[in-house]
Amino acid sequence: MSGLDPRSRTTPLAQTLVGLYRLSQGLQHRLRERAQAHGLSPAQAQALLFLKYARPGVRTIGGLAQRLGCAPATASEVADALERKGLIRRQPLPADQRVITLALTPAGAHKVNALEDLLDDLEAALATLPPTQQEALLQATQALVRVLQQAGHVVVYEMCWGCQFFRPNAHPNDPTAPHHCAFVDAPLPEPNTYLECPDFIPRSP
Ligand code: SF4
Repeated sequence: MSGLDPRSRTTPLAQTLVGLYRLSQGLQHRLRERAQAHGLSPAQAQALLFLKYARPGVRTIGGLAQRLGCAPATASEVADALERKGLIRRQPLPADQRVITLALTPAGAHKVNALEDLLDDLEAALATLPPTQQEALLQATQALVRVLQQAGHVVVYEMCWGCQFFRPNAHPNDPTAPHHCAFVDAPLPEPNTYLECPDFIPRSP
C-alpha cells in the first residue's frame, strides 16, 4: 500500500487517500477549535452531539464509549466532567429503571446548539459542487463508511429515512405516530425518525 508516502501520490487512489486524510485533519482541528471556544474538550463536545441525536436507549455510558471509540471508564470520566459542568445528568430510562441514561440539561441543550456550526464550512464547500458530483460523492462516502463499519473502524447510528425497516406513513390515521418501524414492529412519531438508531440497516440501492 502507498499510504501517505509523497513519492506515491501519482495515482488517483493515492491522491484521494491523501485528500481524505487532510479532510479528517481539518475536521478534527475544527472540532478542537469549536470545543475550546465553548470551554469543552473535543470528547466532551462529541458527547454532547451524541446525546442530542442518539435514541434514548443508546444514550448510555456504553453507547457513548462506542461513539467515542474509548473504554467505558473513559466515557464515564467524560460524562462526569459534563455533569460537573451542569450540561448533562444521569437518569433511569423510563421503560427500564435499571438502565441509567445520560440526558442533556437545558444548559447542555443550549451548548450543543451553539456547537452545531462545526460543519458549516464543509457544507458550504459541498454546496458549490454540481448536483451530479454531490450525488457521486454521497454514494462513494456511503460505500466507504459501510466498508469501514464492517471492519469495525466506525460506528454508524443512522436515522430512519434510509433504513430498510422504515415504513413511512404506514399509519396515516394516527397523527401522533404516522410511521412504522418493522424492526421493533411499532409506530414511530415523526420527531423520532430523526434520531440516530443503532439498529439502522441501509436500504438496498
Ligand atoms: S430500525 Fe431504527 S432506524 Fe430503522 S426504522 Fe427502526 S427505529 Fe428507524
